[in-house]
Amino acid sequence: MYKSFQPPNRILMGPGPSNVHPRVLEALSKPTLGHLDPKFIELMDEIKELLKYTFKTESDSTFVLSGPGSLGMEACLVNLVEPGMKVAVCISGYFGNRMKQIIEKIGAIPIVVNEKWGRAVDPQKLEDTLKANPDVKVAAFVHAETSTGVLQDIKTLSDIAHKYDCLVVADTVTSLGAVEVRVDEWQLDAVYSCSQKGLSCVAGMSPVTFSERAISHIKNRKTPIQSWFNDLNLLMSYWGNNPKRAYHHTAPANHFYGIHEALSILKEEGIENSWRRHKENSAKFIQRLSELTTTCKKINLEPLVPEGERIPNLIAVKVPEGVDEAKVRTELLQKHNLEIGAGLGELTGKIWRIGLMGYNSNEKMIDYCIGSLKDVLS
Ligand SMILES: *Cc1c(COP(=O)(O)O)cnc(C)c1O
Repeated sequence: MYKSFQPPNRILMGPGPSNVHPRVLEALSKPTLGHLDPKFIELMDEIKELLKYTFKTESDSTFVLSGPGSLGMEACLVNLVEPGMKVAVCISGYFGNRMKQIIEKIGAIPIVVNEKWGRAVDPQKLEDTLKANPDVKVAAFVHAETSTGVLQDIKTLSDIAHKYDCLVVADTVTSLGAVEVRVDEWQLDAVYSCSQKGLSCVAGMSPVTFSERAISHIKNRKTPIQSWFNDLNLLMSYWGNNPKRAYHHTAPANHFYGIHEALSILKEEGIENSWRRHKENSAKFIQRLSELTTTCKKINLEPLVPEGERIPNLIAVKVPEGVDEAKVRTELLQKHNLEIGAGLGELTGKIWRIGLMGYNSNEKMIDYCIGSLKDVLS
């Protein structure tokens, strides 16, 4: 006989998942409802309202997809992009590159705006690209590039895109809830996120929102949407404000309870307070890192990303010379029960990625992480 699985209670300070709020874990274990139960429809309506608050949007095309952040990425692109279309995509890390891969799978032509990994994309480069390619109608970029720790000023990129008559696809997977995101004010047209990073929920829910411009663009497509599951028209038969909601897929009911609880917790705190908390704790963490450098003479711990371009809730730290980065992570896990992230893509072996996200963005976690790093590095 197999025993029930007993996971160790890890401290998750990597790039996500972050630790799940206890109230969310409790919500997940409530009795399952059918996906068309009137009580469940009420819950869906509340999730929509909470998401509008979180995204700072009035759009009614705001809901969650039943899947991780990558599903949201695919949904936004597959609805807006048609085969043969030219799409500007800003790449300065792993996730910008994933957007490009999806654009290619659709059979569209990515026009890449490249930037060095570890720096924000220079807005002038996007402007030059759009000027040189007047037939580009969609521009895609990542707000918080989790692979490098860079926060992009997407308001500026969005203003440029709209100046050249482009719709904007924005990745807010790591930023939503933890960093200022204003979908309507910044005129973002198709936006996606996830549940397991800034929102401190389990993975498997992808909040999305579409502007009226995006919806009318989708209605006027010349070719059919190349996805059944992610076809916005079909999804809205389940999520729309129509009195008779129709079955689309079996909603993972308990996950819906989880995201509802996570969003309620964020609303109780007040989203602006959450943004401020993440900023303050990030500054404290970086201050403590530099103190650690002074204490452990031989070890120099510094952020990869210059000040002003850092994601508050995900700090990329350069691996000091001569240190075996994988060994440090293994020891942190074995000795301190602490998970931090490794580098991805070009930055493999060069950085650690330390998350102070949602429920985990507090002084106790900073103390714990700094203390554990100090122990393992000395
Ligand atoms: C994590 C992440 C994704 C992918 O989300 P999953 O939930 O892992 O599918 C996409 N974009 C960014 C910026 C991310 O950090």
